[in-house]
Amino acid sequence: MKLQEHTKSRHNFEECMKCTVCTAFCPVLQANPLYPGPKQAGPDGERLRLKDPYFFNQALKYCLNCKRCEVACPSGVAVADLIQAARIKYDHTPPKLRDQLLASTDMMGSLARPFAPLVSFATGLGITKSMMDAMLKIDHRRNFPKYSGRSFESWLKRRKKEQAAFPEQVAYYHGCYVNYNYPQLGKDLVKVLNALGIGVQMLEKEKCCGIALITNGMSAKATRNASHNVAQLRQAVLERGLKVVTTSSTCTLTLRDEYPNLLGVDNADVRESVLLATRLICEKLEKGATLQFKADYHKKIAYHTPCHLERLGWGVFSERLLQMIPGVEFTLLDSACCGISGTYGFKKENYDTSQAIGEALFSQIRSVNPDVVACDCETCKWQIEMSTGYTVMNPISILAEAIV
Ligand code: SF4
Ligand code: SF4
Repeated sequence: MKLQEHTKSRHNFEECMKCTVCTAFCPVLQANPLYPGPKQAGPDGERLRLKDPYFFNQALKYCLNCKRCEVACPSGVAVADLIQAARIKYDHTPPKLRDQLLASTDMMGSLARPFAPLVSFATGLGITKSMMDAMLKIDHRRNFPKYSGRSFESWLKRRKKEQAAFPEQVAYYHGCYVNYNYPQLGKDLVKVLNALGIGVQMLEKEKCCGIALITNGMSAKATRNASHNVAQLRQAVLERGLKVVTTSSTCTLTLRDEYPNLLGVDNADVRESVLLATRLICEKLEKGATLQFKADYHKKIAYHTPCHLERLGWGVFSERLLQMIPGVEFTLLDSACCGISGTYGFKKENYDTSQAIGEALFSQIRSVNPDVVACDCETCKWQIEMSTGYTVMNPISILAEAIV
């Protein structure tokens, strides 16, 4: 299937025809009066900034980088890229300690892992949350993800030989969430791919994709991570002849599009080989591959398309995959941002905006009343679970649960 690619550079602000469609689709503009909105912050602001950097507006920090303006724009203006690129270029304020901690997902994961039960317990306590609120301005109402005592990497390493025996192979970019917080998602992917005759290899040494570094003013470190990861992708794709699969929609968008468009790290020779696993599996099944489903599987599933997956245009694969499972009663939720946007919703100054943005989605979930919400993004999962009480599962985990 040939999909429309979104490869416009951040410099195409001249193509804005001032229709203001993007302003209608920006979730922040509706919820935070301090934010100028995509048209003013993006193409209009770029004209001024190019004349004089004085016109850079600190309020651009309120942009979620959700890319909904880019999906909406009829001229294909890379509005969100313009905004994030302006923040990288003109905002030289050193990141706060809080932002450094929130953005350093791999470092925090490595430090927390040896004490995972203790850290998970402590970050769930009201007293800890109040202290983090007072000292770091991390909102006390936010729930933190739990840490796992064992990394996904160590689990997969122990199965290297067994995985190498499968006739077809892929490499897996698992990301920080699977490695440090929820290895089960990676195990679920291995189960599903193995059932299709595909073995799973690791990249030699992946680093955090860097999206939280980009949005928290740490672009130099993000660029180092990007260069490292692209070298890893090249090793897997060009030397080992593998496709690279992912389970996080945001990691996927970052590896494919944020690296060249925001950080200037060229990935053209490997970009097309980086795929969300739902796309690979959906296409395999549609070409005749089969999975053995449990006869008694029944689940009412409401699917939420993460913003970055909408930007990729790949939500269709997760939707189609879930609908292939016998016994699934499927509802596609209306297109809406959940409001968390990675680390954005953890910050005290953004918490109320974050929850106001997500409310339309939360209320639709309550009215559908599913057994489970499906979604391909870990931070959407945290936000929806915290705000609605419904369990959220990655489509890959649902598939793993539904097969024999
Ligand atoms: S990326 Fe999202 S928050 Fe930022 S301007 Fe575009 S629609 Fe608004
Ligand atoms: S939707 Fe696109 S063309 Fe219309 S105002 Fe926004 S950036 Fe400009």
